Amino acid sequence: MSIQLNNVSYTYMARTPFEKQAIKNINLEIKKGEFVAIIGHTGSGKSTLVQHLNGLLKPTNGSITIDEIVLGKKDEKSKLARKKVGMVFQYPEHQLFEETIYADIAFGPKNLGLGKKEIDKRVRRAMNFVNLDYDMYKERSPFQLSGGQMRRVAIAGVVALQPDYLVLDEPAAGLDPCGRDAIFNKIVELHKKTGIAVILVSHNMDDVAKMASRLIVMKSGEVAVDGKPADVFKETETLVNTGLDIPQIISLMRALEKRGLPVNTDVLTINQA
Ligand code: ADP
Repeated sequence: MSIQLNNVSYTYMARTPFEKQAIKNINLEIKKGEFVAIIGHTGSGKSTLVQHLNGLLKPTNGSITIDEIVLGKKDEKSKLARKKVGMVFQYPEHQLFEETIYADIAFGPKNLGLGKKEIDKRVRRAMNFVNLDYDMYKERSPFQLSGGQMRRVAIAGVVALQPDYLVLDEPAAGLDPCGRDAIFNKIVELHKKTGIAVILVSHNMDDVAKMASRLIVMKSGEVAVDGKPADVFKETETLVNTGLDIPQIISLMRALEKRGLPVNTDVLTINQA
């Protein structure tokens, strides 16, 4: 069970003067059960990459396979991909639109064609999961909630789809430290309990170092480094290849050390000099 990207490239506004190749020749396999963090500078291609994982963007070149399903141009395959791969975008609360919290969370499961009983069960479970009391909140408008609560409703909507892979693009952006901890604790809990694969795009090195079992560093649309967090920082050469800024590298290494993972601090010394 895995998502495979085979030589995937994507160009925005191809064949226009604004043409921009955002990702180039990406070869990756993400297995069920992994916790992968994707990091890299703004504009390095992270969002473009993850939007391919559930068929939202179609590669300009190359192909994507999800659990042996080759994503093609046909809609039914994209639908199947969306069932397997849940996607939480940046500021997902902007996509809330129903009158009640219940209806918003039920929207996805309804689209899967599930029956009322199963939808009820999933909404209840998803709300419980994000710590929103079902009876208290189900009839309320999502727009009366705080920013952090709205974010939780949006995440509950994706969790209710029970995907095998969960893609999160900066899921804690704009939240206070309490709100971000609440979200990340839930994601870690879900990962541990269900074995769901998590693919997290984040610029917060602390969050990444705390949770990820694999780091993918994007640089100018390509995978610069891919490996276990501690291994990524073993060699000066690998470190330079990431293209990350020194402050980012330092905070990542500190966080890895806090987690008890061995990091080669000599590398840090060399690069600070
Ligand atoms: P990241 O998520 O790492 O910040 P993106 O995937 O958003 O990177 O962007 C990769 C490149 O593609 C950047 O140069 C960006 O300007 C460009 N890009 C992203 N979205 C669009 C778009 N909708 N139209 C044109 N260019 C885009």
